[in-house]
Amino acid sequence: MAVSKNKGSNKKRSLDFSTDWGYASAPESKDHIQLKNRYDLFINGKFVAPDSGKYFDTINPATEQKLSEVADANANDVDKAVKAARNAYEKVWSKMPAKERSKYIYRIARIMQERARELAVIETMDGGKAIRESRDVDVPLAAAHFFYYAGWADKIDYATPGTKSKSLGVAGQIIPWNFPLLMAAWKIAPALAAGNTVVLKPAETTPLTAMKLAEILQEAELPDGVVNIITGAGATGAAIVNHPDINKIAFTGSTEVGKIIQRALAGTNKKYTLELGGKAANIIFEDAAIDQAVEGIINGIFFNQGHVCCAGSRLFVQENISKTVIRKLKDRMQTLIVGDPLDKNTDIGAINSKEQLSKIKQFIKIGINEGGECFQTECSVPSKGFWCRPTLFTNVSQSSRIVQEEIFGPVLSIQTFRTVEEVIEKANNIPYGLSGGVWTDKGSKIFKVTSQINAGVIWANTYNKFDPTSPFGGYKESGMGREGGLHGLMPYLHLEN
Ligand code: NAP
Ligand code: MG
Repeated sequence: MAVSKNKGSNKKRSLDFSTDWGYASAPESKDHIQLKNRYDLFINGKFVAPDSGKYFDTINPATEQKLSEVADANANDVDKAVKAARNAYEKVWSKMPAKERSKYIYRIARIMQERARELAVIETMDGGKAIRESRDVDVPLAAAHFFYYAGWADKIDYATPGTKSKSLGVAGQIIPWNFPLLMAAWKIAPALAAGNTVVLKPAETTPLTAMKLAEILQEAELPDGVVNIITGAGATGAAIVNHPDINKIAFTGSTEVGKIIQRALAGTNKKYTLELGGKAANIIFEDAAIDQAVEGIINGIFFNQGHVCCAGSRLFVQENISKTVIRKLKDRMQTLIVGDPLDKNTDIGAINSKEQLSKIKQFIKIGINEGGECFQTECSVPSKGFWCRPTLFTNVSQSSRIVQEEIFGPVLSIQTFRTVEEVIEKANNIPYGLSGGVWTDKGSKIFKVTSQINAGVIWANTYNKFDPTSPFGGYKESGMGREGGLHGLMPYLHLEN
């Protein structure tokens, strides 16, 4: 079936957002950004050249221009970082009174706030996400995680009443490219609060805010070796996972790599948490506030170009309202601005990498070949860089690959349902169990549906709300363990009775 781009463009839209006013471009300035041509590894409080002698480029996916190059750490480099973390754990961090640790974590949060604009712009340049999101979501939430866990550092005994808790030692942490600084904060803040030291590897395509975070750690005078940040590809991540002197692995990334890591850790006494993929059901009942629900659908799937593990990528609409909802949704999608991520008007930035764009395009082809009806908006996109227009599929079934598999892009599949029981069954009929959304006027329906959907986080009449106090994590192939909140401290502690 063909891709329809012009459907309804001459018809009167049910929601008319058009005005005679266009948006003047509103680019965020880059003048205050300083990027080095090359970044070394951050080990034992200093930037050091990699033993491998190798570097790789990181580019801006909106322009395809090189921003900088970063070191490619090999197993020797990983070993140096682990030794630095072990030494700092034994000699400094585990001996330091908890309230002193807390002060360092607060300091990191404060400096992140002071440098928020710089961090937001670099995040947007390195990863392609709209500045509106890096400025209003990624960076403030990252700082909030450090603030929150700074508060716990000297209150761990209250967090684990009736038990004695001990830190684990050295945590190896591996993060993906969709929320680079935020994922680093999710990992580092609870580890430090619980008294552990860290070796962290950011993703290949988005290492720069982690390098800036290393500068912030220096500015905060965090003792040498407490946090080590090493760049590299999958092999560097694997060297961290397999290093014998690591006590805990915290991994966020794909289910595929999560399974490799779990196999590698089987039979060792390393603790681990795996935050993996997702394919959330966003469910709209006939009694929902439709216009708000349409906003929730848009936010659920198009936030961060759909590069979101908890994205509401499967929409379920009750059959009797489906025509109205789909019409309003298409109209609203047409208003989304795709383009320069540094422009403050932009809703949808660049796809993070060429590889990810080709994966998304492949899934769109699969959807069409499987008989799905594909709708894409008419907006223009820049000629250079990696872009994908907001896309939705109707006429899909529960067995369609685009319904079952994680696409990790701005592609929504829509199914209808008649009864509560039917939608619960369909929502759960998936290998993942990370998140979900329910839109209804009835509190009782919210309780019934949310308690029966097998997912770690379910939002009611909202979507994609994040808070450091709230635990996050999945069931089934979405992984194990929780990050955030009090729960997020537990994977970094040994509890003794
Ligand atoms: P990925 O390919 O699994 O990569 C994640 C990280 O692991 C990257 O730093 C990667 O390095 C590294 N890595 C690759 N192979 C490895 C190996 N064999 N051993 C150890 N580390 C290895 O995932 P991604 O494509 O970056 O991220 C997207 C995925 O993350 C999606 O599936 C998404 O759902 C998931 N995610 C989950 C959550 C959650 O909380 N559940 C949150 C965000 C994202 P390179 O960068 O060099 O490949
Ligand atoms: Mg990049």
